[in-house]
Amino acid sequence: MFDINTILRNNIRLLTPYSSARDEFKGNEGIFMDANENPFNSPYNRYPDPLQWKVKQKLAKIKHVEPEQIFLGNGSDEAIDLLMRAFCEPNQDQIISINPTYGMYQVAAEINAVEFVKVSLNNDYSLNSAAIKAAISQNIKLIMLCSPNNPTSNSFDAMEMLKLASDFNGLLVVDEAYIDFSAKPSLIKYLDNTPNLVILQTFSKAWGLAGLRMGMAFASKQIIDVLNKIKYPYNVNSITQRLVLEALDDVSGMEKWVNDILAQRKLLTSRLSNLSKVTRIYSSDANFILLQIDNAKRAYDYLIDKQIIVRDRSKVHLCEGCLRVTIGTPVENKLLAEALETYENI
Ligand SMILES: *Cc1c(COP(=O)(O)O)cnc(C)c1O
Repeated sequence: MFDINTILRNNIRLLTPYSSARDEFKGNEGIFMDANENPFNSPYNRYPDPLQWKVKQKLAKIKHVEPEQIFLGNGSDEAIDLLMRAFCEPNQDQIISINPTYGMYQVAAEINAVEFVKVSLNNDYSLNSAAIKAAISQNIKLIMLCSPNNPTSNSFDAMEMLKLASDFNGLLVVDEAYIDFSAKPSLIKYLDNTPNLVILQTFSKAWGLAGLRMGMAFASKQIIDVLNKIKYPYNVNSITQRLVLEALDDVSGMEKWVNDILAQRKLLTSRLSNLSKVTRIYSSDANFILLQIDNAKRAYDYLIDKQIIVRDRSKVHLCEGCLRVTIGTPVENKLLAEALETYENI
């Protein structure tokens, strides 16, 4: 049976968190003389709700979890950093992640002096669970997966991911930033039966709100309580909370964007697959495609000349010769396809 206290850092377990004025008095009505705010310039003179309850209540209904199972942060990157800070002792503990994957996990680990152990994916980009299990030791506190994975664009097998959690006395973190574009469902429904599972999602991709900076973590109340204990008191500003709350009233608007992007992904994939210089397009579960092209660096520069910016992944492990292309508007995708049609690898 997983016990969070066996992996929580001692100083965090013993920490008395900062208690803000908004923590100590939770009502909305009254004359507020407790937080040294300016009484003028409403509503922005007031500190935001430190625990973002309005957003969480609405989000909980959409995600079928309890509000207490949600952490909201300044992008998913905040949750990634806080998980490492809460559970990994600097210069001692380690985390396992896959290679290739989202670069932020390694950066966050290195900032926190946590050794980052990379386990290569198989050549077909599937998970190598045997190698991950073999890399687990006493000091491994987190296993970080990303599904659908950036930059490979595929999802991993749900049962295979969950199996890693069941044999592990640490947290299995699954970053689902691209889950809304995936043919496979979220692991969120396994949270109640998997006490050491953490799922990350974001408003930056399908919801079209990257500029607002809001990321989500879903986990047991115990794990969420730890993240809330160590976060900055007012980590999500009031404008972001208000606009996300509004966005949550229009789930179908988000779903329509997703469907349009998926239709465009299909169209762009089929158009580019006709080009002989495009030697491979990987099947995608995300809002981007990874494609292998003759002389990728040259193709990248050629696109820049045409003011089309894609991501050169040609030096990334298992992505040799690949570009990562985000699905754009129909016009943008057409311009990209036309540019690659005229690209000559000389
Ligand atoms: C884009 C992306 C995110 C989003 O990060 P935010 O900080 O929420 O904007 C998270 N994880 C992965 C793998 C991503 O590609």
